[in-house]
Amino acid sequence: MRVLMIAPPGAGKGTQGAVVAEHFGLDRITIGDLLRRNVAEDTELGRRVQPTLARGELVPDDIVLELTRQGLAAAKAAGRGYVLDGVPRTMAQALAAYRIGLRLRMTADVALHLAADDDELLRRLLNRAGTEHRADDNEPVIRQRLRFYREVTEPVLQFYARRRILLTVDAQRPLEAVSADVIAALRERAAGLAPR
Ligand code: ADP
Repeated sequence: MRVLMIAPPGAGKGTQGAVVAEHFGLDRITIGDLLRRNVAEDTELGRRVQPTLARGELVPDDIVLELTRQGLAAAKAAGRGYVLDGVPRTMAQALAAYRIGLRLRMTADVALHLAADDDELLRRLLNRAGTEHRADDNEPVIRQRLRFYREVTEPVLQFYARRRILLTVDAQRPLEAVSADVIAALRERAAGLAPR
């Protein structure tokens, strides 16, 4: 199974992505973690993207698309599916990721959308700010990330709806309840897919 995760910040994309990868034996490609790891290790890439990450803005497409391509190529080489978390955030990234998938014969067969409203997300992210100390978890940056998601990322869901691979799960519930729904919905979807 090949899964794209699309969700606003704070919806639990990272947590649910890990659960899905573990449950179905998929490679996990988490763009935000890869970028933050580069910052923590002070690589050349990390030094380039650090200020952008701290402002909660998008790092250039060439960087995230190259990380995507590497992740898909590695999954293909291992003979596994994947959970891609972080791409796409824009329509341009959706199209580029689709082209990368086509070239590798690794296009997604499910776009998993976690839905939650802004009040709940703001509350969760401010809570996380107190424990995780991510550079982008402060109120003005959180509000800007949420606004960007609503204006630019959310409309991309239409693209997956038209391709008939969109799966929406209500993420405004406790983690375990969301995980149970996500796994059940993906199982059902996987049963309808040709074996890979
Ligand atoms: P969240 O979903 O909570 O905002 P992520 O870990 O997915 O957190 O992303 C953190 C940051 O990494 C983003 O605010 C952005 O700066 C950068 N980033 C992640 N994915 C992308 C992407 N597809 N395009 C551009 N920048 C990205």
